[in-house]
Amino acid sequence: MKPIKILLVAVIAFAATLSLVMVKAQKKKLPEADCGRTAGLGYDDTPMLPDQPWRVHDIKRPQPRTITPGTESSQQSAGKAPSDAVVLFDGKDLSNWTNHPKKKELGNITWKVENDYVEVVPYAGDLVSKEKFGDAQYHIEWAAPAKPCGTSQWRGNSGVLIMSNYEIQVLDNDNNPTYADGMAGSIYGQWPPLVNPARVRGEWQMYDIAFEAPVFEGEKVVKPAYVTVFLNGVLVQHHQKIIGRMTHRQVAQYRPHGATEPLSLQDHEVPVRYRNIWVRPLRGYDQP
Ligand code: MG
Repeated sequence: MKPIKILLVAVIAFAATLSLVMVKAQKKKLPEADCGRTAGLGYDDTPMLPDQPWRVHDIKRPQPRTITPGTESSQQSAGKAPSDAVVLFDGKDLSNWTNHPKKKELGNITWKVENDYVEVVPYAGDLVSKEKFGDAQYHIEWAAPAKPCGTSQWRGNSGVLIMSNYEIQVLDNDNNPTYADGMAGSIYGQWPPLVNPARVRGEWQMYDIAFEAPVFEGEKVVKPAYVTVFLNGVLVQHHQKIIGRMTHRQVAQYRPHGATEPLSLQDHEVPVRYRNIWVRPLRGYDQP
């Protein structure tokens, strides 16, 4: 072997040994967490938080209530509501709802319950919850008909009418051109969704909504309503101010109503389906 070759082999061997040593050094055992350490449960000598009656890390601040979270839905089956939710529809019956048929000659018709969902029966009228809500978190799942019928605002139209006044639109957004502030995810006639995360028609879509109720003093709006909406887990309305109650071809205006009002689901004469509907009235921080 020539000296140059010997040198080359030696360099390669040295490099290989060095990299092995480095890998070994990296694999050194990390220290384990010390589980013997303890910490205090709070403080009574820290500064006061601005605009709060509590100190930073205040030992006297009440503990939030413990609840059991719900379970996620899939296309095949609806999930479960969190333990503190008011369940308005769990797939079984319409005992928590009323409706007023639009056409009296059709008799006392109501929405159709089957296979864990409830479906709009055209002209049965809006489904209206018996219980009323103010500030609240809503979870509502819906599906536009798998077989498209009609175009634009006639394809898959229904709506989540919060406090029976403020519509978060339900529509088939799947290759269905229409005006932007009338798409699913819009505050109807006011604000389009920030993006269009709707699934294809026939699939279940999920609304998660946080709503702050408006406040009235007589005829005056003291505080407008605000809404945050997630459609299929995607933010489509971000603490958006609501202009007024749902209207068509007009600028929305407020009409004073109670501090709590029912949730309504819109009968737009299209067989849209709903399932897994629950509401959590919001009580704010530091509740006993
Ligand atoms: Mg609608």
